[in-house]
Amino acid sequence: MNLSDPSSWTIATARAALDLREVSATELANTILERIATVEPSVHALLKVTHERALADAAAADERLQRGERAPLLGIPVVLKDIFATRGITTTCGSRILENFEPPYDSDAAQRLARAGSVLIGKTNMDEFAMGSSNENSAFGLAHNPWDPTRVPGGSSGGSAAAVAAGECLASLGTDTGGSIRLPASYCGVSGIKPTYGRVSRYGVIAYASSLDQVGPLAWTVRDLAAVLGVIAGHDARDSTSVPRDVPDYVAGLTGDVAGLRIGIPREYFAEGIAPDVERATRAAIKTLADHGAKLVEIGLPHTDYAIATYYLVATAEASSNLARYDGVRFGLRRAQSGDSLLEMYRQTRDAGFGPEVKRRIMLGTYALSAGYYEAYYSKALQVRTLIRRDFSEAFARCDVIAAPTAPTTAFRIGEKVADPLAMYLSDIFTTSANLAGLPALSIPCGFDASGLPIGLQLIAPAFGEETVLRAGDAYQRATDWHRRRPTLAAGRSGEGA
Ligand code: GLN
Repeated sequence: MNLSDPSSWTIATARAALDLREVSATELANTILERIATVEPSVHALLKVTHERALADAAAADERLQRGERAPLLGIPVVLKDIFATRGITTTCGSRILENFEPPYDSDAAQRLARAGSVLIGKTNMDEFAMGSSNENSAFGLAHNPWDPTRVPGGSSGGSAAAVAAGECLASLGTDTGGSIRLPASYCGVSGIKPTYGRVSRYGVIAYASSLDQVGPLAWTVRDLAAVLGVIAGHDARDSTSVPRDVPDYVAGLTGDVAGLRIGIPREYFAEGIAPDVERATRAAIKTLADHGAKLVEIGLPHTDYAIATYYLVATAEASSNLARYDGVRFGLRRAQSGDSLLEMYRQTRDAGFGPEVKRRIMLGTYALSAGYYEAYYSKALQVRTLIRRDFSEAFARCDVIAAPTAPTTAFRIGEKVADPLAMYLSDIFTTSANLAGLPALSIPCGFDASGLPIGLQLIAPAFGEETVLRAGDAYQRATDWHRRRPTLAAGRSGEGA
């Protein structure tokens, strides 16, 4: 482990160094904070650096380590997407309407990470209310892709992916409603997993589309994802959609063995519109798994063409309802002059507080739910959602995991798609289906395009099949070194990681 270069660390290497007392949690935290000071001006992955909290967490971790305690995340520097409520720490969700909002309580994921002894370094940049695929909808300026600062990091958890790629933490949490963990993981060359709907508690996670939202980790390696998932997964009575089901030892499940694993290749995902470099790299990755004993089967997911339309109806409908609570009364921004009516206060607050994409979604969702249109749009979307789910159950009769690209292209240029929301929505074409069906899906680096931008391989499993995608992803990382490549940041160092 190169102690001066955090971008070369993983949780696994830091864990070993901490346990052997070669380095203290405080030293790790300080090195990370220095790294942030250097690279953050060119990346802007963070909306807040929690300096004091980081040093206090690190000191507490050092005490526990000193006493001989050993735990997977003890002393590990992490960051949280700014959608996770953190007690006394501003939680903006990337929006002006929550600019000064300090939650009075912690989200379940934040609590579990804290109890596990991890060190909270900061809160990450994101598209406003997690609506977006590029981070350009952040009210506080977008994050940049560490591989090429003229490119987007992906969204909506763009800051969470960029923070890992830039060496500003060893793992981050994001949320994924239609691809928001997997897309930025793929664009930033890191690993990320969206677990099964209900696997991780959403208590204290600001709601976007409640039937789709799920929490998950991003890190360099699948092994690191397994370590973090093991800490944040599990039942929570405060989230009624959280599933009471034992959490397996995800790290112990990484046997490296994929012999006999049936990998389904959906023909609809390798169709027109996918960049040639992306197709080449994902096909090569699938071949690598086959070379290690996996069996390839061609499958069909015939309703793939309807996934984007279905997703954008369901997500906006739920968002229009969830976002009704930002009214200037209970929390966040309030805009009103004395003498204004209540309605006038709502109007002014929401007009000043929400950005253009959020307003567009509220209008779309309200329309889809309104009397006279409900049957034609929202009900229809729910019916198609059932068909998409059925596609997956039929496919999983013939395979154990589905492999496909995470996104049709690599990271696009900043500004390229802002004027064309439909083009932006199409970045989610391969990711939204797993949310509509509630399935676990992993994205791992599997190569680079001609411009040196990372490409992501997506692995999808049946519900609660996290162990299967993690095992396959880890087997792939044992055989390849894409996850060891590091970007050359202007101020940072490049080179091989751990
Ligand atoms: N890009 C999708 C959207 O804008 C997905 C976002 C997400 O998963 N939060 O809705």
